[in-house]
Amino acid sequence: MSKRDYYEILGVSRNAGDEEIKKAYRKLAIKYHPDKNPDDKAAEEKFKEAAEAYEVLSNSEKRQRYDQFGHAGMGGASGGFGGGMNMDDIFSQFGDIFGGAFGGFGGTSRGGRRVQKGSTLRVKVKLNLKEIANGAEKKIKVTKQVACNTCNGSGAKGNDWENCKTCKGTGSIVRVQQTFLGAMQTQTTCTSCQGEGRVVKNKCSSCSGEGIVRGEDVISIQIPAGVGEGMQLSMSGKGNAAPRGGVNGDLLILIEEEEHPELKRENQHVLFQLQVSFPHLALGTSVEVPTIDGKVKIKIDAGTQSGKVLRLKGKGLPDVNGYGKGDQLIEIMAYTPTQLSSDERTMFEKMATSDHFTPQSGKREKGFFDRIKDYFD
Ligand SMILES: [Zn+2]
Ligand SMILES: [Zn+2]
Repeated sequence: MSKRDYYEILGVSRNAGDEEIKKAYRKLAIKYHPDKNPDDKAAEEKFKEAAEAYEVLSNSEKRQRYDQFGHAGMGGASGGFGGGMNMDDIFSQFGDIFGGAFGGFGGTSRGGRRVQKGSTLRVKVKLNLKEIANGAEKKIKVTKQVACNTCNGSGAKGNDWENCKTCKGTGSIVRVQQTFLGAMQTQTTCTSCQGEGRVVKNKCSSCSGEGIVRGEDVISIQIPAGVGEGMQLSMSGKGNAAPRGGVNGDLLILIEEEEHPELKRENQHVLFQLQVSFPHLALGTSVEVPTIDGKVKIKIDAGTQSGKVLRLKGKGLPDVNGYGKGDQLIEIMAYTPTQLSSDERTMFEKMATSDHFTPQSGKREKGFFDRIKDYFD
């Protein structure tokens, strides 16, 4: 199942500015708003889709990641992100878009009460080429905010709560305001209870009424094949626990790549330089070379020139979005011995006088990087 391009969803070009993106989203949000399209599933999907696109494109860090890696950069390929936003996330976005005037739009029907969201937890995961090629499951131990055991994360001793007096338990302060869409309820979060609508009467002593404590957790992370250095994946709900039974924050996973002793990664391709001595180039031979999955025997034809590039098709890395696999490119370099025995010296001197070995000039083999460039074009 492939997701639609975020720019396409909002109907803007890839170099659209922030204002243009905001405008495009505002239009779609009004058009597909659930209050205007009751019981219309298709409109609701469009509404959510637009909100997700806006969420990414309005954030420069996320937008850059999306431009570079597509949906996979948003963690979609890991399966852990789940994708999409819930309605609460979408409505909370509206303050920014409509200058607060839309806060109450659909708010009361959702109960008004708000739960807090835990903060984002960031971890680094280091992978070698083999793990990148095949994808990997990593279990990592983290220290993070977890729900307090004593009070089950509620923060209240004996589950003893009372309604917030400031907002009378609704979690928000409501005002009616005139806007471009007519009379509109403006709803702001109650600051006395952070929108929760209730306050702890008798605080849990283990967590001082917060419902969270520092603790350890082992998180299992599925890394999709084809990721690269600096890429970030995100898993929703795996970050820090929120105060008083709120929604868990997200986990951001930064990918680091371990350097391979012999192979060099170039996007999806893997480069390797092989030194072969002149007699073997002249006569032909077979040589073992390292690949991501272990040694492979390759044939060097008789008369192979130094600088020739051989290709092992499909021995590179998979594309993170699933578009095929790269190759391994092997540059053959002539190896020149620097120390000669007297027998070898005699042999070389004899060869040097042969017609076939007169020094040649003016003919240059293309260098490796020229060839690699041709290969990528
Ligand atoms: Zn507690
Ligand atoms: Zn309150």
